[in-house]
Amino acid sequence: MPACPKCGSRVSSTPTRTFSILVESERAGESGFTAKKLATYQCTKCNTKFPVAVDRQHYLVVPADVIKRMQNEMRVLQMHNEMFSDSLKELARGQQELKAALKAATEESEIRDLENKLRGLERHVEHLRRDKIELEQKLSGSLASSR
Ligand SMILES: [Zn+2]
Repeated sequence: MPACPKCGSRVSSTPTRTFSILVESERAGESGFTAKKLATYQCTKCNTKFPVAVDRQHYLVVPADVIKRMQNEMRVLQMHNEMFSDSLKELARGQQELKAALKAATEESEIRDLENKLRGLERHVEHLRRDKIELEQKLSGSLASSR
């Protein structure tokens, strides 16, 4: 709620009118224009009319060549961004291939493990067979000698 500049009382009514003005920036170090939206209030006590700034929008004045340079820089940045996402995609593809290769390698090593186990088993069976033959020979020998 704005206060009346004359009597200081708060004005609760709606503004009598609103309007916009364009002024050169008055702030130090600020260039460009400021669009000010003003509202005129009327004091309900002393009837003084006074404007109140309700909104301000700053517009920077930028030379055309600067705008052009900024746009070019934006394009370059966008290109870099695209290149970056492309290489990211490639990286993801490479990772997939690596995963597949790793899985194949794991399977290969598993096969090798199984083959080793099989060879061990075969050796064991061979050993058992030899033992059996030996035992049979011993048995037949003792049978023969007992006759
Ligand atoms: Zn007043």
